[in-house]
Formats: sequence, structure tokens, C-alpha cells
Amino acid sequence: MQDLVIQRPEGLYCPAGDFYIDPHRKVERAVITHAHADHARTGHAHYLAATPSEGVLRARLGQGVALQSLDYGAQISHHGVRVSLHPAGHVLGSAQVRLEHRGQIWVVSGDYKIAADPTCAAFESQRCDVFITESTFGLPIYRWQPDAQVFAGINAWWAANAAQNRTSVLLCYSFGKAQRILSGVDASIAPIVVHCAVQTLNHAYRAAGVKLPDTHLASGNPSDMNRALVLCPPGAAAGPWLKQFDHPSIAFASGWMLLRGAKKRAGYAQGFVLSDHADWPGLMTAIEASGASRIIVNHGSVPVLVRYLSERGLDAQAFKKEAGERAMHDESGDAAGLGFFDAVSGSDSGAAGDSPEVKA
Ligand SMILES: [Zn+2]
Ligand SMILES: [Zn+2]
Repeated sequence: MQDLVIQRPEGLYCPAGDFYIDPHRKVERAVITHAHADHARTGHAHYLAATPSEGVLRARLGQGVALQSLDYGAQISHHGVRVSLHPAGHVLGSAQVRLEHRGQIWVVSGDYKIAADPTCAAFESQRCDVFITESTFGLPIYRWQPDAQVFAGINAWWAANAAQNRTSVLLCYSFGKAQRILSGVDASIAPIVVHCAVQTLNHAYRAAGVKLPDTHLASGNPSDMNRALVLCPPGAAAGPWLKQFDHPSIAFASGWMLLRGAKKRAGYAQGFVLSDHADWPGLMTAIEASGASRIIVNHGSVPVLVRYLSERGLDAQAFKKEAGERAMHDESGDAAGLGFFDAVSGSDSGAAGDSPEVKA
């Protein structure tokens, strides 16, 4: 039986359905697992994504992008392939893609995490024959602390700085991580100031019904600025934006902060280990819950996980590396500043309305 998903230079491809999943080159139909820049790119003719991701996707790709949204769990069919999207617990609107064709069920995980996150729907495991899993943190050393512990650390750092009238700058990705931090910190300590890239996404989160504390732009000059918590994307830390804060304490929030030396190399006094990806036990939980006998590992520490699963009797493999993959990793990062509308064909997507066929 032919594989339901293969890897092409453009990205993961479903030959039976003739569409791609998170392609990194321009294609006709793209199913998008979530709005991070290395998964959701501009220039595809038609997009399909989970309904809760619509606001953030349009904020990043352009309001006029030809996007068809699909509720979690709803099914549509395209060329005989039944497609549905299920919560991946990674960021707002993130989805696993479930494909069913001629009795075979495949699930493409996208990025996911198992730990609860108040800013997005919780990961919902899907039974399948073949599970294509990410493995960004696919090494046994990666084990996250409970969120409560991480946020207690962030709050203590912020409160100690505030007591000395020193601004606390926490570097974090503007989409997903920033909102998760906002929902976890103790907003009663002092005002919270965010970079405009974070504020744009905060609006999209609030519009989607996610509760976040009040956030101010630095230009709004909130009182108590020198006691504030400031969230800004790592890219902005190198530029002039940070200079408006006098002698701030700077920290970084990322799963990579678990690596000995990463904090030091990055030159920050503090590093908080907070990731929106599954840790090693999380990967194991998801793989086992899928019930799949064949696992394809994609994206991250591939060989270690493949070897580990093979030794446990699973049919585990990696996708062949293609030329396109290198480009994908080099270009990953924050999407602020992309040229939106000119890259998108067909301004509004009235045509993508109620059709039972997948237009994306
Ligand atoms: Zn992601
Ligand atoms: Zn990713």
C-alpha cells in the first residue's frame, strides 16, 4: 500500500490527496499545523488550518490570505482522503493532522506538547497506524519541570528586580511563548510591557477568547516602568529597542536553557526552562497513546529517537533528508516584517466558504 505521506523538496506531501503539510516552498494547497514561521509560510495558493488559529495566521500571513478554517475534530474529504485537525497543545490553534484513506490512518503531529497550557486547547491523542512525530527535544536529557515551579522562579526574579527599581526583561518568542508567560506570571507585581510584535499576537489571542493580563507598549509610558516585566522577542534584544530601559536585568525563556552552558553562551544572567514542545517523557506518552506500530520521526533529534523506538520493537524511521530541509531550518525564526499581501494570490477567500472539498 502506498504511503499516505511522503517527503518532497517542498515538504510533507499526501500523494492521494494532492496537498502538502507545512510546506516550505510555494504550493497550491497547504494544510498548516500552526502559525510559527517555519510551518506557516506566505505564498501558497490555498491554506487549510484549525479554526482557533485563524486570527494568528491572518496576523502573520496577511488578512487576505486564502484560508479555509476547520473546527477541531470536523472532517472534510479531498480526493477521497478524509482530513481532520486535532489539538496539539503547542500554541493557539496548533493541530495534528489526521488523514484517513482506504482504511489507513496517518497522523502528522506538527509541533506538540503534552503539558497543560491555559492559552491553547490540550493535546488530544489520536489512534493511528502511522504517527509522524516531531522530536525537537528528542533526547532523554530533556525533562521539563512543572509549570508552577517555572513561574514561581520567574515571579521571584521579577519581584526581586522590582524591589530594586530595576526593569525585568524576559526574552521569548512573540507567538505562543509570550502569551503562555503572560498567563502564568503574577500580574499584581508591577505593570507588564511588551514589544509591539508580542502585542499584535496578544490581540489575536484575546480575540480568540484567551484571557491575558493587561499589557502595555513601552511607548505608552506606563507608570512604574522601572519595575515592569518586559517581554520581547530575542531578535529585538540586539537592536536599539532595549536601550530605552535603564540597566535592565535580562533573562531568556526557552527549552534550550536546560543545556548546560546555553545560558552562559547567550550571555544572560538568568535562563528559565520553558518549552512549548514535548520533553522526552512527553514524546513517549504521545507515541504510546497513538497505538501506531510505525513511527516516522521528523524535525529535531531524529537518530536517537529512531534508534530508541526501534530497540523497543517499533517500526521507526526518519524521513530522508531533502535539499529543502536545510533551507527550512535556516529560515526559521520570528515572522515579523514579512511582506504579506503581495505574496498572496487571490485576495479574499469567499470561494473557500462552505465547500465540502478541502480548498487548502
Ligand atoms: Zn511551533
Ligand atoms: Zn516547529
